[in-house]
Amino acid sequence: MNCPFCGHHDSRVIDSRDVNDGIRRRRQCLSCGSRFTTYERLQPTGLFVIKKDQRREEFSKDKLLIGIRKACEKRPLPVGTVDKLADDIEAELYRQGKAEVASTVIGDLVMKGLKSLDYIAYIRFASVYRDFTDITALKQEIDTLVGDETEVSRPISQLPLLPAEELETVAKRRQRSRR
Ligand SMILES: [Zn+2]
Repeated sequence: MNCPFCGHHDSRVIDSRDVNDGIRRRRQCLSCGSRFTTYERLQPTGLFVIKKDQRREEFSKDKLLIGIRKACEKRPLPVGTVDKLADDIEAELYRQGKAEVASTVIGDLVMKGLKSLDYIAYIRFASVYRDFTDITALKQEIDTLVGDETEVSRPISQLPLLPAEELETVAKRRQRSRR
């Protein structure tokens, strides 16, 4: 690490501490004595997406976010829902620990996530992703959803984001903190 002031190649570490996702080092140049800071972070292992035409491209969280955001546009979803879904999918992909992942795997994860959040967003995403070629295929998908919803028997926009047990814990915690 060259000194940003004089360009000298050597410095000594005068302080070192853990920060959120890495190590922060305070350094002093051995030539001019100037102080500067460096950060050391873990480089995430590259993840490549194999597309339908077999081309590979580096996984992009931004692209994932854009796709989900588009599908969820103007839907009554709580703030942070889209980001959380993208975070969860990204984490799941890295958890699988593979260097390459088929774009269909990501698409399926998005579909699964959206299906549990909002049917309209789900259908929007599906219509692009599954590339419904005719209205019959689209209608079939919607019919499946309508069937599901009757079983669940509550409006999808009110589905909790957390499992029931967790919601209960949150509610209790809130009550406690009010006292
Ligand atoms: Zn220097």
